Amino acid sequence: MEDVEKVKAEAVQMMGVFHVLPRLVVFDLDYTLWPFYCECRSKRDTPSLYPHSRGILSALRDKGIDAAIASKSPTPDIATVFLQKLRITSMFVARFTQLHFINHQIIKIKEIFYTWTPKTEHFQKIHSRTGVPYNSMLFFDDDNNNIKGVSKLGVTSILVNNGVNLGAFREGLTKFSQNKQKKRK
Ligand SMILES: [Mg+2]
Repeated sequence: MEDVEKVKAEAVQMMGVFHVLPRLVVFDLDYTLWPFYCECRSKRDTPSLYPHSRGILSALRDKGIDAAIASKSPTPDIATVFLQKLRITSMFVARFTQLHFINHQIIKIKEIFYTWTPKTEHFQKIHSRTGVPYNSMLFFDDDNNNIKGVSKLGVTSILVNNGVNLGAFREGLTKFSQNKQKKRK
């Protein structure tokens, strides 16, 4: 637990350095937030996250930055159970359809996209339903095809090699602010 707090504190501090921050951060699940493919696991398993995932998600929540999931997992039922077991379902906030969960405290609709359609389609939906511009989004995924496609929309997209961690997070924030500055010139 101490490690989570440490990562969270470092991520919060990191965000304080940047003048511009994303409004929405979107994560893939398999090999981005957790180190396995859901379809190779059973609902009875006890899942674990990559070591920095939880701290980064907590930091985003602290800073009031929304997080969402874009997953093409063929076993959304397992992914949903795992998110609940990990107690992170409520960390993902967005206002679009499909599977949704109502948080009892703050009534918001949480969206998890599970489809086989290209991730660019997920982002088109996210954009049209939330009104968040593509250039205000930051995206993490371990699949370079997703990164290429989604970055063409104007979303700052970061390829992760060993799951999302503080290094990838810093890279994402840096690239995001560079992209914003380019736009301004
Ligand atoms: Mg993946």
